[in-house]
Amino acid sequence: MTKFNELNLNPKVLKAIEEAGYEAPTPIQEGAIPPALEGRDVLGIAQTGTGKTASFTLPMITLLARGRARARMPRSLVLCPTRELAAQVAENFDTYSKHLKLTKALLIGGVSFKEQDALIDRGVDVLIATPGRLLDHFERGKLLLTGVQIMVVDEADRMLDMGFIPDIERIFSLTPFTRQTLFFSATMASEIERITDTFLSAPARVEVARQATASETIEQGVVVLKGGRRDREASAKRKVLRALIDSEGDKCTNAIIFCNRKTDVDICAKSLKKYGYDAAAIHGDLDQSQRTRTLDGFRDGSLRLLVASDVAARGLDVPSVSHVFNFDVPGHPEDYVHRIGRTGRAGRDGKAITICSGRDEKALLAIEKLIQKEIPRLENPLKEEPETEAQKPEKKSKPADTKKADNRKADSKKNDRTKDKEPRGRGRRDDRGPAVVGMGDHLPSFIALSFDERRTG
Ligand code: AMP
Repeated sequence: MTKFNELNLNPKVLKAIEEAGYEAPTPIQEGAIPPALEGRDVLGIAQTGTGKTASFTLPMITLLARGRARARMPRSLVLCPTRELAAQVAENFDTYSKHLKLTKALLIGGVSFKEQDALIDRGVDVLIATPGRLLDHFERGKLLLTGVQIMVVDEADRMLDMGFIPDIERIFSLTPFTRQTLFFSATMASEIERITDTFLSAPARVEVARQATASETIEQGVVVLKGGRRDREASAKRKVLRALIDSEGDKCTNAIIFCNRKTDVDICAKSLKKYGYDAAAIHGDLDQSQRTRTLDGFRDGSLRLLVASDVAARGLDVPSVSHVFNFDVPGHPEDYVHRIGRTGRAGRDGKAITICSGRDEKALLAIEKLIQKEIPRLENPLKEEPETEAQKPEKKSKPADTKKADNRKADSKKNDRTKDKEPRGRGRRDDRGPAVVGMGDHLPSFIALSFDERRTG
């Protein structure tokens, strides 16, 4: 097994690594550090949790230890998709460069321009930024990118998801073409491949095993909710979530609960709090100080349940998260891997439980295809509560919202009447019967079937 001291890193960096308690380099570090130290471009295909941040920060610090920064001309640049990730990369630099004198600035939303401007004016060795904020500074004439010797793009696939690729291309074109590029992505979409083909020069390609296959320490399970009324789905899921947290009991020391939508992040956190759980929300719309406070609380153990969106939790580095709950099945199967990778870190045990409503089963199958494993089906902790006849909307009682439906029905009847008066050939087609305006009273029979019946029947 390779040791850190065989990698040609600066002795002061080695000292910091030792103090961090790392025994040996991870596979991505072993693969990426030597070519990076030789000044080569690196294409790293690795996810968070693999030690990829150190695989670029350690050689960068070693290379930057020689030389000095000039005013307004950073010597290196690290681009991250989110502020949280940028802040974490900055922390990594602090940890590993503590025995060296390197300067850095952080350009992220929510941090004041003024302070960072002053740092950049004096000259920084490392500039860590989100792409939008970096270009803001550049356009204000506060920054020159012509001194950049090393440029890192971290989590490029997430940049792609967030629409940052044009910004990245622009930033590439503002830096000298002689720069060294260290480029990281969890997956290689064709758009990412185009970028690497264009901007990287004969890179050393280092690929490490997908986290899905590596994290055998994560116990997975899914509760599939069958049937039930769609308008009650969210509240049913919240009930199931509470029951799952309760049934895990003390084993659930802390957990991240993922929702697909920001609105659900808020609702879910509020609802948990209402029921007496120690929970708080984090997503991109909250202001920076609030997000920092919440994350700090979660990190130091004073907050038990963190309800999060994918983007906000991306790169969140809390080594001991006992549970991950997916309130929704993520739309992108890769996100499932990222989500569950928040638990079971550094060889610890972890548990990831997903709640899947009937209509999300297709997304669940896509995940199972990606991870090449069936996720064990768990019993609904509330037991199945089959819908009683009285609960069905059309029968007997009329819930409040059926009034609106009645109005819509009346409207559609009106439509049916006007439709009949329309000249042939415009509003209707002879070969397909009368044109349907909305659905009116007509409910196609397949709509009434459950998801399973539709697929098999
Ligand atoms: P990353 O993939 O960069 O998000 O890193 C995941 C976690 O692994 C972080 O908590 C790092 O501090 C930790 N880590 C990085 N390198 C090593 C190593 N060689 N040995 C043990 N832990 C490490």
